[in-house]
Amino acid sequence: MNNVKTQKTTDRSALGILKAGTDNLNTSRKPVHVAMFSGGASSAYIAYHIVQKYGKENCILFFTDTLWEDEDNYRFMDEVAEYIGMEITTRIDGRTPEEVFHDVRFLGNSRMAKCSEELKVRQTLVYLEELRDEQNLEPILYFGIGPHEQHRAINLQNFYEHNPLEAISTRFPMIETFKEDLDTKKIIRDEWKIALPRMYGLGFSHANCAGRCVRGGLGHYALLYNVWPDQYAEQEAMEERFREKFDKDVSILKRNSKAFTLKEYRELMDTHGVEKYLSEKDDTIPCVCSFS
Ligand code: SF4
Repeated sequence: MNNVKTQKTTDRSALGILKAGTDNLNTSRKPVHVAMFSGGASSAYIAYHIVQKYGKENCILFFTDTLWEDEDNYRFMDEVAEYIGMEITTRIDGRTPEEVFHDVRFLGNSRMAKCSEELKVRQTLVYLEELRDEQNLEPILYFGIGPHEQHRAINLQNFYEHNPLEAISTRFPMIETFKEDLDTKKIIRDEWKIALPRMYGLGFSHANCAGRCVRGGLGHYALLYNVWPDQYAEQEAMEERFREKFDKDVSILKRNSKAFTLKEYRELMDTHGVEKYLSEKDDTIPCVCSFS
């Protein structure tokens, strides 16, 4: 790669986990700081942080919409954007995760989720290349991942180093920059006076796709059934449509390494009580959709 400037960032080497000095800034392009705005509290705080540091004119709040988002996430994102004083740049593929599953004839599950690849990752990569080609800007990506999720930061760092046409720099201020463990939810709620997305209050660990994330495991879907049965019913119907149309015994969840449908799970929870399943371990791979 030509014109690569190596820039050391705070504390990466100190952590010894994230690679030090891997910012790949093409000096012929003007840097632009892109907050990967997910609808979660941490990514909202990171957006605020970079705008304070680099100025609105050098920042972008970027969001990819799967069309399954909870309506309260849009409310939260709009209020955060207004607080920061910036517009949100949104990219939409136009399909829902279900439409992607039908197109690829594969039902997303905890191990493989084409929805994430098509609706989030592809949209992001196309947008970042446009920034380079059409505006001569060099994107630097910021994620709201915290110290307890360093493995995800490493995965993202590797992904953006190897998958775009040229490597793209990634930064993780919650890990690299802030010395103290910030309570971003408290700051947003108490200082910014913005109500958090209602999904946090319902007990979900991330606020993407309105609780319908196909990467969620048994515990996640037990919670969904318990607190938001309508959404569970939507997802159960979605799964049944796929199974019928393609005449395949497939499912979002697995139990004892076999297909285990949401219908079967619901019947089991109805028989034995949903509480019994709330603490089921979610042996899932977190998706790139939840940067919060
Ligand atoms: S949050 Fe889950 S369901 Fe939604 S796009 Fe990402 S992987 Fe797919």
